[in-house]
Parts: sequence; structure tokens; C-alpha cells
Amino acid sequence: MTHLILELTNLYQTKNNMTNYQNNDTICAVSTPNGSGAIAVIRLSGSKSLEIIDTVFVRTSKELHHATCNFGTLYDGQDIVDEVVVSYFQSPRSYTGEDVIEISCHGSRYIQQKIMELLIKKGARYALPGEFTFRAFRHGKLDLAQSEAVADLIVSESKKAHDIAVSQLKGSYSSSIKTLRSKLIDILSLFELELDFGEEDVEFAKRDEMRQLLDDIESELSKMIKSFELGNSIKTGITVTIIGKPNVGKSTLLNLLLNEEKAIVSEIPGTTRDVIEDVINIDGFLFRFIDTAGLHETSDVIETIGIERTIERINQAEIILHVIDLENAEQSALTSEIQEFRNHLKNKDKKWILIGNKIDKVSEKPEWIKSVFGDEMIVISAKKHQNIELINSKLRDYVLERQISDRSVVTNSRHFDAMVKARESIQSAQQAFAANISNELISVDIRQALYHLGSIIGEVTTEDVLETIFGKFCIGK
Ligand code: GDP
Repeated sequence: MTHLILELTNLYQTKNNMTNYQNNDTICAVSTPNGSGAIAVIRLSGSKSLEIIDTVFVRTSKELHHATCNFGTLYDGQDIVDEVVVSYFQSPRSYTGEDVIEISCHGSRYIQQKIMELLIKKGARYALPGEFTFRAFRHGKLDLAQSEAVADLIVSESKKAHDIAVSQLKGSYSSSIKTLRSKLIDILSLFELELDFGEEDVEFAKRDEMRQLLDDIESELSKMIKSFELGNSIKTGITVTIIGKPNVGKSTLLNLLLNEEKAIVSEIPGTTRDVIEDVINIDGFLFRFIDTAGLHETSDVIETIGIERTIERINQAEIILHVIDLENAEQSALTSEIQEFRNHLKNKDKKWILIGNKIDKVSEKPEWIKSVFGDEMIVISAKKHQNIELINSKLRDYVLERQISDRSVVTNSRHFDAMVKARESIQSAQQAFAANISNELISVDIRQALYHLGSIIGEVTTEDVLETIFGKFCIGK
């Protein structure tokens, strides 16, 4: 029966997705994850929230006060549905800015479903994905960038990604965009003032100052655009690939780093047939490992596919862990191996970490390695778990070195696109300015830049853009 109800609900929700976000319906949704749990939270938002809850919720306190929890029983006619705690947040002092009710109920699927049906019977409708946050945006509780930070916060899996989402949610990022916009508006208004006085040839805007202002804006934007690379990798994990000849201990090392038996460890050269990916968290930074089949030439078909992929992954990875076997290492072979590896690199500007493995077999770093590589090579034993922390700290240091202030880290590709477009407009304004082209034309470029920056925080957006953004949220958020 519950199964049937759920299917009907899904059907209803699919149909209901036709509804757009622009209305004042009272909406409801289960805000906790799908499935059963100890408790679940069902949210209700809109002008009819109080009226709806009053018809089904029996409790001792007659009136519900702002920001209070109220224990009582939910009824469907004469039937008890559940004993629940109802929290009430009065408009405008709620997440959405509307009257919000949150029902904490027992978390069985049946109860959740039953309560949802009840609320809908009493006049609410199923919320669309992200519709609660959309309302928060519509009522000026959050700007668009902050709303998107809510989605990032929910999915953030490392301390760093969490920190960035929190800072964006708190509005630090939006305020950088607002500052840039207000600088542009200043320039624009001076230009327009000059246009008004066109005939009289008045110059309100000092050319040098204007140029300086445009340069500053351009460089600020460039900094933010550059931070996207970092911001994005913080969110999804910085890619690391392990390479090296067969049997040097790549799989053993990977297993150790991942702390679980994901890759196949074998004595037979070239048995790591597939490319395996996994993510580890080192001090709040995510690293996405890609295991590889090695760089050696082989006629084995499966292995060949592996090598092609390896080369592809080398070029995708930001950090390369190049493992060698200290016991069998030989200076000229290693030099040509490094050369061969470098030949595969499209972008030479990558972090390359050389790891000498199996130190347990040679007891000491060979002399020639000491003289050729010095401290550049980390010496470990994957099998005996020796010095693995040195790899972790190299990885962590790499991110810290690249670190720039959180304030301007861009993690969202929509923002990145808008910034790139804004910068193009600014650059076009700079060129026009240098060529002494009329203020009227420069104003067009500045307006374009303002538009693109405004789209980040939602000051200028179309219905479609909003629906795309909020449509990606989960239901109940
Ligand atoms: P891959 O082909 O590079 O992935 O190498 P594997 O991880 O499969 O390891 C090949 C062999 O070397 C296995 O027998 C491992 O147990 C062994 N091995 C890996 N690391 C070490 C190490 O640090 N010391 C010793 N003595 N053996 C190791």
C-alpha cells in the first residue's frame, strides 16, 4: 500500500513539476533524506501554513508562537497519524520569509507519506526542488550566490569545501561582487553626467582615475577567475595519478593511501588492468586518486587500453605521484623513464612528486639517488607502511601553497562564466578608453559587465535561469 502511495506521489510530483516557482501557494516537502530514519522533518511554507496545521495538530498550547517547539498529536480526521513536534517561524523571521512550520515526526516512510497527503488534502502542494530556498531568494533573505551556497553546503564533503560554502552563504563573496558593481556604477554615472552636459564639453570623470578604476576591476576579476581552478578542485577533489613501471608498488601504495583494498595487488607485472578512482581527505582537502596501468609498452590488448587511459589521466591530473622501485632502480633507466613520462605531458606545469619505494629492501637511499635528486625524492616502503605521512604532507603543502584568500574563491561554474563575460566587457571598455572612443560606447561595455556581475547575485536574472538553478536543488530545500 505504502509502495503504491509512493508511486502515486512520484507521478504527482512529475506532473507537478510543470508548476513554476512564481506563485504564492503554500508548499510542503519532506526535508530529510529519502527513506526511513529515527525522525523525519516535513516543512510547510506559505500564508496558509498556520491554518493548515491548526486543522490537523492537537496540542495543549492554543496558539503557536514564533520560534517555539510544540509537542502534540497529528490527526487525520479521527485517526492518529503520529505524535510530533511542531516548530513555528513567523513571517518574515523564517528561512523563506513566509510563515514556516516544521514537523518533526517519526521517520517511517508510511508516516512521512501520510503527513504529506494530509497537508496536501488541507491545501498545500508539493514543493518543487529548491523551492524553499527560491522563496528565501524571492523575499530577499538570500541573494542568488548565497542560495547556491546552500546547495554547496549540503553536498560539501571536506572542511575546505564547507568553509567556502559557509563564507559564500554568509555573503562575503556577494559583497565582493557588489563592490565591483558599485565601482562600475560610479564610472557609469560620471560618464552619463558628461553625456548630459555633452554640448558644454565638461569632464566630470578624470581620465586617469577612470582608467585606473577599470584596471583595478579587471585585475580583481582576473583574480577571481583564476581562483575557479582552485575552487573547483576543492569541491570535487584535486586529481592525483600514480604512475610508474609495473611492479614498483603503485597498487600497494594506492591501497595504503586509500586505506582499503581497492586495487588489485599482484606479483605479475601489468595486472592493474582497470583505472580505479577514489577520493581521500587529508586535513580537509579532497584528493581524487586515479590508479593507472603504468607507462610501459606492451602488446597485451587490455593493458594497451589501460596505458592509453593512463596517458589521458596523466594529462587530467594535477598532481603526479611517480613511483620507482629503489631495489631495481638504475640511473640511466630512471632518467629516460622520467623523460618518457615528461614527453606525455601536454601541460608541463604540474606537480610532480618522485617516490622511491621498497626502501625496506635496500635499507638506504642509493648514493646516486642522493646526488641526483637530493631531498626531492620521498623514500618510502608501501609494504611496511614507512614514511607514508611524507606523501600526505607533500599533497597538503601543495594545496596550501596554491591557497588564496577564501573570500574570492569561485567554486561555481555559472559564476565563473559570468565573470569571464564581465571581464571581456571590461577589457573591451579598457580598449575603447585607450583609443579615446566616446563615453557613450564605453558605457555600453560597462553596462554589459554590470549585467553579468548582477546575474551572479541575482540582481538581473531571467525566469529560465532561476528555474535551472533551483531545479538542481533537492526537494525539501
Ligand atoms: P604495481 O604493479 O606497481 O601496482 O605493483 P604492486 O603494488 O602490485 O606491487 C608489486 C609487488 O611489490 C607486490 O608483491 C608487493 O607486495 C611488492 N611491494 C610493494 N611495495 C613494496 C615495498 O615497499 N617493499 C617491498 N619489499 N615490496 C613491496
